[in-house]
Amino acid sequence: MKSADVTSVRESFSTHVAGEYDVVVAGGGASGLIAAVSAARAGAKTAVIERQGCLGGNATTGMVAQYLGFYNRETRVAGGLAYELTQRIRALGGSEGFARYLLAEASASPVPLINFPFNPEIVKIAADEFAQDAGVDIHLHTQIVKPLLGESRVEGVVIETVSGRSALRAKMVVDASGDGMIAAASCVPHAGVEPELKRNRQPCTLVFRMSSVDVKRFRAVPREEKRAIALEGLKEGRIYWESLSFCSTPGGKDAVSLMSRIFDIDALDAADATRAELAGRRQVKTIVRFLRERVPGFENAILAGIAARVGVRETRRIIGQYTLTEEDIVGNRRFADAIALGAGPMDLHDSKGTGVALWMPEVPFEIPLRCLLPESVQGLVVAGRAMSATRDANGGSRHMGTAMCLGEAAGIYAALAARGEASLRDPAVETVRAMLRERGALICVEDALAAAEAERSEIMKFKAA
Ligand SMILES: Cc1cc2nc3c(=O)[nH]c(=O)nc-3n(C[C@H](O)[C@H](O)[C@H](O)COP(=O)(O)OP(=O)(O)OC[C@H]3O[C@@H](n4cnc5c(N)ncnc54)[C@H](O)[C@@H]3O)c2cc1C
Repeated sequence: MKSADVTSVRESFSTHVAGEYDVVVAGGGASGLIAAVSAARAGAKTAVIERQGCLGGNATTGMVAQYLGFYNRETRVAGGLAYELTQRIRALGGSEGFARYLLAEASASPVPLINFPFNPEIVKIAADEFAQDAGVDIHLHTQIVKPLLGESRVEGVVIETVSGRSALRAKMVVDASGDGMIAAASCVPHAGVEPELKRNRQPCTLVFRMSSVDVKRFRAVPREEKRAIALEGLKEGRIYWESLSFCSTPGGKDAVSLMSRIFDIDALDAADATRAELAGRRQVKTIVRFLRERVPGFENAILAGIAARVGVRETRRIIGQYTLTEEDIVGNRRFADAIALGAGPMDLHDSKGTGVALWMPEVPFEIPLRCLLPESVQGLVVAGRAMSATRDANGGSRHMGTAMCLGEAAGIYAALAARGEASLRDPAVETVRAMLRERGALICVEDALAAAEAERSEIMKFKAA
């Protein structure tokens, strides 16, 4: 046998087509859940494909228990389906609503903002209902293996489940995998995989949840004291960055923590992905002991849960028809094809150290539809973290609130394209924007200001009554 035969095997088989859709959404996370509901509500026969056992992505399997990106300073910038989801979560008792919060409280540069803290378990239920009510076909425990490719065109996806391998044909595929996996496999140019960056990506974080916490007592500790405790913990090697904050505290008795920080991980490398989980759990063990021994309110706390999957901040970013830059964000650049507003904060974690560069843009920033569209590969639109943005701009556009708004626009575009009413060369910008606005989405700075004004007069009316 020749040596080549030892190191490779040739496989040849035909794959059964298990379904045909107008729109298949690859990944059911922040952007994918909303993209699927959006496409279905726009009249498309839609499926969402998710490798985990629930929808929601980082909010559920990642346990990242707060939506950011809904408010820039005092102005709400996310409406439409993203906002509707928050209302559904509230109605199910999964959140008390938007709240003021000091992000990275124990760090050198904390940022005051408005977040939407929630209980990730309730988000799983809300996400199921949201997708089912819209008529989306949900495929859980389903790994997308690769795109089905035609001539310069994505024509569906190949999937693997416990029942075996099959294919789903689709007129349009929304890549909401976070990693741009469909785009990359379809030869869409992308950034984020440069050799010098692979070992210098932002760190991963394995989120965990403590229960039996006296949250009130913890919250009452002054910031300076929290910072001093965090710096001591860092010096002793028992915590990993300047963080003592908890992104959500469901019921005032639990605390969801993002305190682990796992360096030198290329999340597109399977061995690294395993290493990240193992290192993350080692860190959680140390942090839990530190919290119980040193942090007021955690004396009797117990480790109640660890996220099913380590949180990944950075992998691929497509190079689309337009690439959003930090200059666009700082310079408040306006776009005729704006389809969503970013709020910030700009959030870039040190690839090696213990800090984080955090700041809030002065005003909301516009994101054009072109950031979601490849230059030449038909049948595909990208939503979420993998949209076309520079690394710095991505630090502000990857929050879940923003990802959801991108998902809504991608879903509408996909539904239109599936019936021949939009294409890469003529993306039907005015129709997409009109449909978004009809649903209450906020797509440009004036929309956000008008919504804020309307909310203010509602409050005045309420006070006067
Ligand atoms: C540690 C950490 C903390 C963060 N903190 C916050 C925060 O506090 N607030 C905030 O708003 N944002 C936060 N973010 C950012 C935010 O969570 C992500 O940027 C956002 O979720 C991106 O949305 P997405 O839809 O692109 O990806 P995701 O939400 O990650 O969804 C991608 C989905 O695709 C699925 N998928 C991927 N590949 C496949 C495949 N081959 N087959 C099937 N399914 C697949 C995944 O399982 C996942 O469900 C944080 C991120 C991290 C990592």
